[in-house]
Amino acid sequence: MNLHEYQGKELLAQYGVTIQRGIVAHTADEAVEAAKKLTEETGTGWHVIKAQVHAGGRGKGGGVKLAKNLDQVKEHASNILGMQLVTPQTSAEGKLVRKILITEDVFYPGETEPSEIYISVLMDRERKCNVIVYSTEGGMDIEEVAEKTPHLINKEYVDPLMGLQGFQARKIAFNLGMTGVAYKNMVKFISNLYAAFVGSDASMFEINPCLHASDGKIIAVDSKVDLDENALFRHKDLAALRDTDEEDPTDVEAKEYGLNFVNLDGNVGCMVNGAGLAMATMDIIKLSGGEPANFLDVGGTADAARVEKAFRIILRNEKVEAILINIFGGIVRCDRVAQGVIDAYKNIGDIKVPIIVRLQGTNAEIAKKMIDESGLEVRSAILLKEAADEVAKVVG
Ligand code: GDP
Ligand code: MN
Repeated sequence: MNLHEYQGKELLAQYGVTIQRGIVAHTADEAVEAAKKLTEETGTGWHVIKAQVHAGGRGKGGGVKLAKNLDQVKEHASNILGMQLVTPQTSAEGKLVRKILITEDVFYPGETEPSEIYISVLMDRERKCNVIVYSTEGGMDIEEVAEKTPHLINKEYVDPLMGLQGFQARKIAFNLGMTGVAYKNMVKFISNLYAAFVGSDASMFEINPCLHASDGKIIAVDSKVDLDENALFRHKDLAALRDTDEEDPTDVEAKEYGLNFVNLDGNVGCMVNGAGLAMATMDIIKLSGGEPANFLDVGGTADAARVEKAFRIILRNEKVEAILINIFGGIVRCDRVAQGVIDAYKNIGDIKVPIIVRLQGTNAEIAKKMIDESGLEVRSAILLKEAADEVAKVVG
């Protein structure tokens, strides 16, 4: 689960990481109020207006603007709010900006080249450890740095059981060229950042840029955080930060109903109970000449409400030419699933694609009979081979 920049920064602050201070606004007037408040609190004369969307590269798309007075705050806020922000990380339509972050300007005026550092913490699955990636060449062109001058990107591997060792934080600060106060601040920054990463069960924390100011301050100017959804059950406060406006509506809906759903490019929709069986079903569809249009695991209890939701989600994809339902009735009885399919089919009313149902397990014969006698455009099968042949006929 992704966090917005402002949420990530609040989380960092809780762990003692120094952040560029800011206030969220939903209107241009709120933005002006926020700017005044920041001036009172921090003494900042200038402000930065930043679009809050789940995508990076906002600066390049015009979603980050510097305001040198309150009129400019208002102007930039009005322009950015409501815009479709297109960045190198969004689709061509871009993302609608619903809120903005008004921040203090932390780049001291007159300082021509403040140093922008890149620091991230993530998991290295191959090495089975965490890794801190860092570079002196932070800022908006980090992708280009990684591509053209990869030697400027450094990595420090951290054993997850040992945790970050003091010498590692010092080594990073040293390699980043820090001296004096800045060195001390950087060691603290890295230790606290790593603690935030572990403490929130994150899979990524990226600070780009992290500002090294001329007075030795080290400040997180941006934050990109990805939390591990499997660990959210033990972070109720973080789970509450989910912003469903930023997610694909189909994914949100599927999650609500306990469906594991992934859209794919093919023409045969599938509805299966169990992730392993769903994978095998996708293979069978391919073998029979079709291409799976989705992965969908309805879970253990394939009742009518869930089957109906699954039907609706699959049918939303216009490329779907047939649907294969493959259910193993072990925890649920096949006749209950069959009834669910029949009820859902009738409820939706206008299903135009053929449906092939393969039910195996407890009461499979009864279930097959129910479907055959339902009078619906639903074909039944007991053997997977029969179901696959039916799919082949439909898509071939
Ligand atoms: P991103 O483009 O989505 O990564 O958004 P960032 O939060 O990283 O902002 C983009 C760029 O805006 C940064 O790389 C900075 O160069 C610039 N920026 C951010 N905060 C400030 C600030 O306080 N003062 C000035 N002058 N520039 C800033
Ligand atoms: Mn950034």
